[in-house]
Amino acid sequence: MPVLDKNDLSKYAQPVFIPVELDRGCYWSKCAFCVDKTGIHKTYKNVDIDHVVATMMHLHRKYGAKTFQLCTLAASPKRLRKLVDVLERKGRKFRLSTWARLDDDLTIDLIKRAYDVGFVNINVAPESFCQETLDLMRKGFNIEHIIGVLDELKQLRGRVTVALIAGFPGDALKNLERSMRVCHERGYTVIVLPFQIEHSSDIYNNPSSYGVALVGKSAKRDIAVTVRYRVKRGVPHYVWPDVRAPFIEKYKRWFVGGESSVIGYDVFDFGFTKSW
Ligand code: SF4
Repeated sequence: MPVLDKNDLSKYAQPVFIPVELDRGCYWSKCAFCVDKTGIHKTYKNVDIDHVVATMMHLHRKYGAKTFQLCTLAASPKRLRKLVDVLERKGRKFRLSTWARLDDDLTIDLIKRAYDVGFVNINVAPESFCQETLDLMRKGFNIEHIIGVLDELKQLRGRVTVALIAGFPGDALKNLERSMRVCHERGYTVIVLPFQIEHSSDIYNNPSSYGVALVGKSAKRDIAVTVRYRVKRGVPHYVWPDVRAPFIEKYKRWFVGGESSVIGYDVFDFGFTKSW
């Protein structure tokens, strides 16, 4: 539980999102590229929902806190539903923000109920709007379902931002283009990030099951953030740096009425962002 005795919340830019732990690690833990799934622990652990609510009520009584960021890599819809049930039963309304997975049981009804008890952000990470790509990444998402949920979120909060992963081994450029088209047609804000293999991800640990061979010294160096690789099989693949410039050229006609931007990161060496 955060101890805020030395922090005068009124002196911070408002609203202050107070962190409240929901779980550690990820209950799904299957996405091929993920390096976060176990967090700093080796197994997934969660905090009892009654305790989560009791923590928020304590922080509200003691410090006047009303706005909370649930600390989770991705809340399970089942636990989100239980949290909403408890808040409804207690008649408590806090401002809440969380990450959640787009599983089939993250229903539109649950999202509406969550917003009714005070959620202001339910952040989600689809990574792709192509079923073939989602399956390659082992995301466990159903394309129709995730689009339905995102449309609902867009209606509720007016804007939806999604990150697409470009260049997953074995994927095809046409699949990324299909995803871009979905974003364009439905008015989602989009960020495109190039795929990279990182140490401790499942694709790093089991490259052959993804049709990939790791190459070079970086594959052996723990300190290397990313690893070089070759794709051995799968549908025709592409290398993001090779297609980046023509891709931007092709899609910038959709960037009408606003600016696009290039983001420099150490890990994601390139990003591409724009509200349609
Ligand atoms: S990418 Fe997200 S949902 Fe997938 S294993 Fe990692 S934390 Fe879990």
